[in-house]
Amino acid sequence: MARRKPVIDTNSVAVGLLRDLAAVQASKQSKWGYQRAADAIAELPAPLESYLQPDGALRKIPQVGPSSTRVILEVLKTGASATVERAIAESGKAGTVEKSRELRGTFLSRAQAVEALRNQALGGPSLEDYRGDLQMHSTYSDGSQTLEVIIETGLSRGYEYSAVTDHSYGLPIAHGVSMARLASQHHEIDRLNEVHAGQFRLIKGIEANILADGGVDMTREERRLLELVVAAPHSGLRTSADQTRRILSAVRSPGVHILGHPRGRKYGARPGVAADWDRIFKAAAERTVAIEIDGDPSRQDIDHELARRALDAGCIFALDSDAHAPHEWAFAETAVAHARLAGIPRERVINTWPVDFLLEWARGLNG
Ligand SMILES: [Zn+2]
Repeated sequence: MARRKPVIDTNSVAVGLLRDLAAVQASKQSKWGYQRAADAIAELPAPLESYLQPDGALRKIPQVGPSSTRVILEVLKTGASATVERAIAESGKAGTVEKSRELRGTFLSRAQAVEALRNQALGGPSLEDYRGDLQMHSTYSDGSQTLEVIIETGLSRGYEYSAVTDHSYGLPIAHGVSMARLASQHHEIDRLNEVHAGQFRLIKGIEANILADGGVDMTREERRLLELVVAAPHSGLRTSADQTRRILSAVRSPGVHILGHPRGRKYGARPGVAADWDRIFKAAAERTVAIEIDGDPSRQDIDHELARRALDAGCIFALDSDAHAPHEWAFAETAVAHARLAGIPRERVINTWPVDFLLEWARGLNG
């Protein structure tokens, strides 16, 4: 199986440095300016090298102003930025910046994800193999897309199905759905599935919350009302204390199908759950609970390095966008890129399965 040597991703380096620069700005306006530039570079589909013109200037990139351009040119020339390092030293915030830098490992820039999708030498699933997204939020919880919009967006991307996985009632901060509201959502899903029969299928899902003790915030009977349960941690994401037992217990809960954003890490902000992942992957493989690669650029959870260990443990995977709006559906592509870098065979990715097979697997875990 082709394994790729790590290469320096100039886009990621520039994004990190622009974020550092944003973090040490005294004025809100320049902070936002650098943040906007960092976001634009993170989203850029091509490497920064390709924006360099023969005269040594950088081709115009929307949202990237002259000061950010200067940093990018330094990065292209030296792999670092003296300007940023100077600003950090003068700000007296070197400690904070250092901490944030430690929390940026194995995040792909959009350019790197595009390259992984294109690279024929990598095995693994392609975008054409991908039949449906299995983590998705609607207006029933904290998403901005209605169920109709989810169907339209799925069809426009050539998908056959999508799970609707709004937050469960245990997460009020994300407008978790009550059981009564879930019942009306299911009513609406049934109606829409009838209209789109043979064309597109909405799957009745939920993103359940993994509690501090490893329990899942819905009862077993409540979970049985659902076709797909993604269980995910939303607390205890900043402590270095070992949480192997917590996550193991969630993986072993009947009716849990996918371990969603398993670490709960956030780019530059928090490390997420610390645990013996090999033990967790082994337990997930035994039960055929899928390990999620959440493609949200700020999550990328789990990443390709950890995914390779999960693959070695025998796991199956869910590659999801965690989209809250239609423009976020492309996040699934970052998840596919990580899967390709990890060398995960297509048949181990549940999003490539036909819907009937997928639902049969899910029912098998409900006992
Ligand atoms: Zn979540």
